[in-house]
Order: sequence, then structure tokens, then C-alpha cells
Amino acid sequence: MTDDTGAADAQTSEPEPEEELAPYVIEGARSGRAKCKTCRKVIPKGDLRIGVLVEGPYGLGYMWHHLNCAAKRLTSHVEEAYEQRAWEAAKVPLTADEVPDLESLRKLAEEADKNRKERRELPYAELAPTGRARCKHSGELIEKGAVRIVLGREIEFGRQTRTTPINVLPEHVAEELNNPECATPAEGFVDALRANTKDVDTEVFERAIEKIGDLGA
Ligand SMILES: [Zn+2]
Repeated sequence: MTDDTGAADAQTSEPEPEEELAPYVIEGARSGRAKCKTCRKVIPKGDLRIGVLVEGPYGLGYMWHHLNCAAKRLTSHVEEAYEQRAWEAAKVPLTADEVPDLESLRKLAEEADKNRKERRELPYAELAPTGRARCKHSGELIEKGAVRIVLGREIEFGRQTRTTPINVLPEHVAEELNNPECATPAEGFVDALRANTKDVDTEVFERAIEKIGDLGA
């Protein structure tokens, strides 16, 4: 099947299999034209990028992101891509040595998560993106996907006092609000939580409120 062999042969040949596209590709950008779907800036040629296969209006195609941008925003996609060794699916495959190790990308994600939190209004509820964080009140690990409540704790910083966001399991919120270092008022707590929480399913959120229980405020 190296050249056009005509109709007789076409009848016996199998239909051309559709090109299988890997769910993820990690590669050096083959051009400098694609824009990162996370930060919207151009991905310079040669910079590491990750393609996430999506069904678009013209069929299947890749949405490209700087690998670092994806690490910060699409952490679970990056984890999956690494599991699948997505750099081997590139047109010009890379070796594992040519991509950053997953641990360094996780650190980026944690750093970005911290920064985002410092800009967000407290308190709010969210789903734990990993199973690595602990409840700052009880020290228990918070399961991936479980609801955690983010509230403020006052931390002495030299002569300054700063409010830093901490993760607390819903069942320990009442106790944490009584902690002298707690920077989040118990009064109006649930209303504030409701107002500041995004991206948590209503039913899941209400169950967390039940676990928080009566705050006597
Ligand atoms: Zn980017």
C-alpha cells in the first residue's frame, strides 16, 4: 500500500482507521501561534505545553496550555497526563527527563492555590483538590473531594498580625471559631459562607452546613 493501486485493490483493503488521538499531549510547542487557554498569552515555539483533547464544533481537537499554567489551574488533568506519559504521545516525543517532575508541578499548584486563597474573601467552602492537606484544627487529613471550610486565623508576623487562610473540616468549625486566634467572626458565619462559596454543589454545601451545626450566633 505504498502507492495508488487502483479500484481493484481498494475493494479488498480495510477502511482507513481513524487516527487515535491521545487524551493528553505534552510537547515543545511546534509553532509560536497557539495561545494558552489559561493565561491567554502566546505559547512561544519550543516552550512546554499540554494539549487537552476536547470535542469542539469541528470535532476532536487539543486545547493548549502552558504546562505551568495547567499545573496551577488544571492540576488533575496534569496528574492524569503524567500517569499516561503524555510526552510520549507528542509528534516529536520527549523523554521523561525533558519534562519537569510531577512533584515540582504540584508545588506550583500549591503555591498558586495559596495565592488565590489570600485574595479571596473568607470564610468560604470548597472541595479539597488533593488529599494532602490537613484540618488545621484537628490535624486530620482531609480527603480529596471532601468539603473543607476556609477561614481566617491571626498569625503574629514580627510586630504585625496577619490573617492567614486555614482549612478546617466542617465538624470542627464551631470549635475553631472559639479559638482566640480565629480571625473569622462566628456571628453571621453561615451567611458569609453562603455568600463567598462558589463551585460547591448546593446539596453538598447544605450537608456541610449541617455538620457545622449550631454556632449559637
Ligand atoms: Zn499560560
